[in-house]
Amino acid sequence: MTADLTASRMVSANLTADRPTFVTHLECSLTGERYEADRLHGLSAAGRPLLVRYDLEAAGKAVTREAIAARPTDLWRWRELLPVRNTADIVSLGEIETPLVPIPEAGGANVIVKDEGRLPTGSFKARGLVMAVAMARALGVTRIAMPTNGNAGAALAAYATRCGIETIVFCPEDTPEINVREIAMQGARVWRVNGLIDDCGAIVAEGAKQGRWFDFSTLKEPYRIEGKKTMGLELAAQLGWRLPRAIFYPTGGGTGLIGMWKAFAELEALGWIGPERPKMFAVQADGCAPIVKAFDDGVNHAERWENAHTIAAGIRVPRAVGDFLILAAVRESGGRALAVSDAEIARAVDDAARKDGLLLCPEGGATLAAYRRALAEGLIGAEDSAVLFNCATGLKYPMPAADNALDRTRPIDFDLL
Ligand SMILES: *Cc1c(COP(=O)(O)O)cnc(C)c1O
Repeated sequence: MTADLTASRMVSANLTADRPTFVTHLECSLTGERYEADRLHGLSAAGRPLLVRYDLEAAGKAVTREAIAARPTDLWRWRELLPVRNTADIVSLGEIETPLVPIPEAGGANVIVKDEGRLPTGSFKARGLVMAVAMARALGVTRIAMPTNGNAGAALAAYATRCGIETIVFCPEDTPEINVREIAMQGARVWRVNGLIDDCGAIVAEGAKQGRWFDFSTLKEPYRIEGKKTMGLELAAQLGWRLPRAIFYPTGGGTGLIGMWKAFAELEALGWIGPERPKMFAVQADGCAPIVKAFDDGVNHAERWENAHTIAAGIRVPRAVGDFLILAAVRESGGRALAVSDAEIARAVDDAARKDGLLLCPEGGATLAAYRRALAEGLIGAEDSAVLFNCATGLKYPMPAADNALDRTRPIDFDLL
């Protein structure tokens, strides 16, 4: 047993025993073409994301809702529905179940926030990357490159460093400073690029073509979706196997929205939930809303959004390779794609902090702003249960100055304090 594995066992009792996994194959999300499991894959031949498929009938015989409920609550309780075959390939930093926090003042009586800021590296990117890195390790990858707006790079750096995989990360030059530094500090070589995330992605693609590294761009490897899927599994279990009426998801590449939609289908196939689905709201910013435009235009693929800008860096994604999957889920669910302004985002962040004591990241604020819009436009009612995703800790982002200072050597006016 390696020292590294011992550490993994300390953070999760779910990792103490090898459990079977039930992966049968992978499938092109556009054409349905089959691909073999246990092989290294990028995109399908059609240039689209691959989806992991399981023998859910066998999984349903091996594990029950009750058995899941009896396990520790972290991400690895879902092992039978995840792709990692060998516990030894898992590199865990403590992927806890994230809490559901009501925000009655800023949101309303039926609004809860799933606070993903509690995860390792402070964002839900940990869910996707812990899975993708474990699979890369299992399949013998030794060097990975990735374009990022910040949080994905940080999660990649942390997990890859822990298992000795080399990482090279490219981010837009105006990526939040704290993200660039945390990526570097956690062992990646990080480069600021004078462009947007898809420009960074082009560099990664070129290097991959030259055989220099494995391309870990959003949805260009199959396993981040499986990690992000655990948001949907967890939500179902936390809510007593009943899904909320609406989910508001801050949508960049859309991995989480696509993953949750997949999770719900798998849970229904297992007979653990019924056919009801939440209305899925894909939330973007006015300054970068390609999915919203495609939704409104009634088309399945989004055009690149030019001159993308917003304070919510995590959703500044001009082009998403999984656009058609996001749009299909939103449409099937009876939800909507909504864009909100930076001013609305800032106001929502401010409200949640000042009225409910919950510090959201800007992207989390965007979901609250979109919830308010959906309510105002009658897309949902105030009595409908809604889950908002706060995808990263608010502590990573700039806050307004607080400059009050007191000179203790002079008389203090206590009435002023
Ligand atoms: C990555 C990220 C998003 C977007 O998530 P996707 O699943 O890629 O759409 C939103 N907010 C933050 C803070 C992020 O880091």
